[in-house]
Amino acid sequence: MDCIFCNIAAGKIPSDILYQDEKVVAFRDVNPQAPVHLLVIPRKHIGQLSELTEKDTPLIGHMIEVANQLAKREGIAESGYRLVINSGKEGGQLVPHLHLHVLGKRQLSGRLG
Ligand code: 5GP
Ligand code: ZN
Repeated sequence: MDCIFCNIAAGKIPSDILYQDEKVVAFRDVNPQAPVHLLVIPRKHIGQLSELTEKDTPLIGHMIEVANQLAKREGIAESGYRLVINSGKEGGQLVPHLHLHVLGKRQLSGRLG
């Protein structure tokens, strides 16, 4: 499997892992767009949002819960942060393994694209 994020989840590609459990892995983005820029990914390979099924709903909830916990740990829970999922080409997705961006510690623009 030559998916970058599957390989990160499997520990085959090194990354700055902040949290992991049986369902998800969270690590720092290698090219941060804000002082705090984390990625939360499912261990299971899901290409993009359109591939989610109803069975994945608890997994997405868990990814958000982990993002919120990490935001607390990174000290941005009160100042504010942004969760983003890019999906598909026109959604700006570059890595084809579903991931939740956690961005904060600077004033983010009100614009979404
Ligand atoms: P996308 O545009 O697909 O939503 O975002 C992909 C993100 O993954 C980008 O912010 C990019 O910097 C990050 N990224 C790509 N390759 C790697 C990698 O090998 N390690 C880490 N930590 N982040 C990566
Ligand atoms: Zn993958």
